[in-house]
Amino acid sequence: MKIDFRSDTVTVPGQGMFEAMMKAKVGDDVFGEDPSINELEGMTASMFGMEAALYCPSGTMTNQIAINCHTRPGDEVICDESSHVYQYEGGGIARNSGSSVKLLTGDRGRITADQVLAAINPDDPHRAWTRLVSLENTSNRGGGSCYDFNEIKKIGALCKEKNLGFHLDGARLWNALVAKQETPKQYGEVFDSISVCLSKSLGCPVGSLLLGKKEFIHRARRVRKAFGGGMRQAGFLAAAGIYALQHNIERLSDDHAHAKTIAASLEGKSFTEYVLPVETNIIIFQLKAGQSAPALVTKLKEYDIWAYAIAPDRVRLVLHLDITPEMVTKTVEVLSGM
Ligand SMILES: *Cc1c(COP(=O)(O)O)cnc(C)c1O
Repeated sequence: MKIDFRSDTVTVPGQGMFEAMMKAKVGDDVFGEDPSINELEGMTASMFGMEAALYCPSGTMTNQIAINCHTRPGDEVICDESSHVYQYEGGGIARNSGSSVKLLTGDRGRITADQVLAAINPDDPHRAWTRLVSLENTSNRGGGSCYDFNEIKKIGALCKEKNLGFHLDGARLWNALVAKQETPKQYGEVFDSISVCLSKSLGCPVGSLLLGKKEFIHRARRVRKAFGGGMRQAGFLAAAGIYALQHNIERLSDDHAHAKTIAASLEGKSFTEYVLPVETNIIIFQLKAGQSAPALVTKLKEYDIWAYAIAPDRVRLVLHLDITPEMVTKTVEVLSGM
């Protein structure tokens, strides 16, 4: 029994999702004629109370399109130093949009309004023009940490006052919504643009959506074409997204409970220095001095438990749709014996 905790992207469609995909009505989406994509975009936009949505192949693309629409070359983007938009998108902010970044040191990926205020450049010709603030919720490198929504509102108000764009990388926003009992509409009210992924915790094979005002998404659609993301009969994939929004959100609380169970069995182990607080579906633990993350990952693999060494001394486990209660039980047993 392979137990794959490397990422929540490893899921494969189950029977229900697969049948929905096979039955999808499709058309050419570059002509705006794919009924399944149109339905998914409309449904997601109304979930968030936002005007429009754009279906894209990846969360990297939705983030990068958003950054491109918010900025001009030479502008500056404020984000946490660990954020996906900076660390894991191939230098895309510079490559695609010619913008620079101002990196802040947040608390497990979360930055504050005070930090943002201090990071805004003065209106001085020497300085880059601060144009955009990008948050990540939940934070991947932060171990699935969630923002306090009041802080998000404060940053949102600051962005309005200073005329900055406000973007959310919500690859795993679904997990935050379930964990904190928040609503998508709360988020739609404060952000100018939101990226959400369907291929992470919701279990789709492919797909992300960018949300925003009509005019913003109109421009985003042009950028998507230029980035090579205009797909044709991709309604087969969008149908998986519709299925996931209807069936796979509430069950995320199971993943969160599983993560807490496994994290508890890691506490106090001879190799564990500490486990980052588990708020959602991600467990990150720090190893004691002298312990090697790749060696531990290799050892776990002997039991067919797959984990990911995110640093020489840090291991990550991610819970998802394809991890069953039996797999969690087996993992706890293996860890107890280690
Ligand atoms: C996975 C992820 C993305 C997007 O990744 P893709 O693999 O391009 O879909 C964006 N932000 C965060 C925080 C992520 O974890």
